[in-house]
Amino acid sequence: MSDAPSPVLLVSTDFDGTLVEHGVPTPFSPLLVETFSTLRERGVRWVINTGRSLSSLEEGLDAFAFPIHPDYVITTEREVFRPAPNGHGWVDFGDWNARCARAHDALFASVAPMLREVVAFVERDTRADIVYGRRTHGHGITREPAGVVARNDAEMDRIVALLDGFRARMPQFSYQRNSIYLSFCHVDYDKGTTLAELGRLLGVGPESTFAVGDHQNDLPMLDGVHARHVACPANSIERVKAAVRAAGGYVARDPYSAGVIEALRFYCGGGASRSEPGARD
Ligand SMILES: [Mg+2]
Repeated sequence: MSDAPSPVLLVSTDFDGTLVEHGVPTPFSPLLVETFSTLRERGVRWVINTGRSLSSLEEGLDAFAFPIHPDYVITTEREVFRPAPNGHGWVDFGDWNARCARAHDALFASVAPMLREVVAFVERDTRADIVYGRRTHGHGITREPAGVVARNDAEMDRIVALLDGFRARMPQFSYQRNSIYLSFCHVDYDKGTTLAELGRLLGVGPESTFAVGDHQNDLPMLDGVHARHVACPANSIERVKAAVRAAGGYVARDPYSAGVIEALRFYCGGGASRSEPGARD
């Protein structure tokens, strides 16, 4: 047996703050196209793994005029899709999304009283907004709290402190946070476990999986468990950099997509595009 690292066969990238930078004239490196084309020629498959909903991701790809589309998408940090057979849009990949929906139906039914306390706290003690979602039942559709948007990180820190208290007594309840955005979820479904399911469906194990992200909701795919090759761009929050270092991963010198290209070169070798100084500007 060799200790040589396995080649990367599956690449999982966050979108906002990782592949694209907001509020700048050039949101991503022009070298991304060449980088992913080269990887694909080698049989590497690529998934965008995002907290955005499927429709929001499609809007984002359009809004940024993103020049290449992924082979798969993981959205809302927990649903996995493959391209529709007719080439238009995306369809469920396997039965994970159905299992995920059932788990969340059961979860939200059981935590409804706790979520009422969360809503009362947010409305009484913060200026954050509750985000509501719709859930379909046998007998109709209900509108229920799905997440929170805070005014700033400090306000979200206070809300998270409350949620962490609830989590101690409701072990299946969790949340995904991305700066001032937070969504409630089942503890078993996150970017990491959903990436693992995609790998299982494709026959690719963690030893051949690469993941890169910049923020808190990326942590479940950056701990070295579901992807052995992990990285983060230079703009990542400190907690992400620490997690990547702890997993023996690669903290890029460049931010955003230039950092992604740099990390892919590190793990995949010189065939991926070079990250040249200033290429992002
Ligand atoms: Mg991000």
